[in-house]
Amino acid sequence: MGLIVQKFGGTSVGSVERIMNVAERVKDETILGNQVVVVVSAMGKSTDQLVKLAKEISPQPSKREMDMLLTTGEQVSIALLSMALNQKGLEAVSFTGWQAGIVTEPVHGNARITDVRTEAIESQLSHRKVVIVAGFQGITESGEITTLGRGGSDTTAVALAAALKADRCDIYTDVTGVYTTDPRYIKGARQLKSISYDEMLELANLGAGVLHPRAVEFAKNYQVRLEVRSSMEKIEGTIIEEEATMEQNLVVRGVAFEDQITKVTVLGLANSLTSLSTIFTTLAQHHINVDIIIQSTTEAGAANLSFSIKTEDLMETLKVLEDHKELLGYEQIDAENQLSKVSIVGSGMISNPGVAARMFEVLASNQIQVKMVSTSEIKVSAVIEEENMLKAVQALHNAFELSSVTE
Ligand code: ASP
Ligand code: MG
Repeated sequence: MGLIVQKFGGTSVGSVERIMNVAERVKDETILGNQVVVVVSAMGKSTDQLVKLAKEISPQPSKREMDMLLTTGEQVSIALLSMALNQKGLEAVSFTGWQAGIVTEPVHGNARITDVRTEAIESQLSHRKVVIVAGFQGITESGEITTLGRGGSDTTAVALAAALKADRCDIYTDVTGVYTTDPRYIKGARQLKSISYDEMLELANLGAGVLHPRAVEFAKNYQVRLEVRSSMEKIEGTIIEEEATMEQNLVVRGVAFEDQITKVTVLGLANSLTSLSTIFTTLAQHHINVDIIIQSTTEAGAANLSFSIKTEDLMETLKVLEDHKELLGYEQIDAENQLSKVSIVGSGMISNPGVAARMFEVLASNQIQVKMVSTSEIKVSAVIEEENMLKAVQALHNAFELSSVTE
């Protein structure tokens, strides 16, 4: 007998019909003789709707009360799923995050899990019950309700799988697995059989919405083998594990892309030892996420600094820079909008020089100008004009032959 953690996302529990379908998938596992812990998200877009309600009352609602509000979404789906399982003749019990022993740091809105106290779950499992746990929520040591950040139910599932030493952690979602790139836009996009934690982490951080980055990090740290699969179709998904054995030899495994990027340039910054730290500390204090950074020195000895941000953060960024003009001592600010970021990801890059060169060759031969670049051991990202984004992704996907792998 095995212990399986199954996680179902918002779309998968988006209606009564779909909840009944989830109950069927849970039942399948119990019929195989497995113990099952199920983690669910809030139904459909209900978390978004709760956020909208709050914003109608206050532009900046209290973070504590936001957590209080948003955690109700998951509470609805756990209760309904438990009833659905009863209806199908299974004994089940639903637990909120705190009842399930998910302990977090004392931070509202984006808390990290610090401990999982599994006694309550284990006791119910030993009574042959299916245990259903609300994703995305926990409790602090002092008894405050917290949430794990948008998309955080994945992290709940992985944390439970690690703490319970589950045999498997299956992430059921509305796609059939992890793809080489987004099949909605790119011809030849192909589902991967397996992918490594590090590659998945890069892709998740680059906006592949299929898994929460923190869940992947957690899975890597505790060596939880994940499988991303469809809640609707009974077909194989994508396995995320330490070594993606199937396609080890591939240099590039996926191409990610993101639009709505802006490049901000600060001209004539005093070239002092502290100017960089002052700028980025100031931006960080205002929760502005800076991605790629480039610095150059002018002939006059001043510094020009460019960095990329999400376009939605532009107004705030300009305001912060204006407000601190005296402290930062720059001459002028420029902003270039309508940019995008295209990235190639693959563990094979570590041992294969020339991958970045090949990427730039492909972009150049398609007359695509590269505005900024950043790299990690297993990733190369280029900022290019938004209008060229899909053309670039398609060209890279073709050039690295991502659609035609023999497995
Ligand atoms: N319901 C939460 C959200 O929409 C958590 C999740 O779905 O993972 O972000
Ligand atoms: Mg999700």
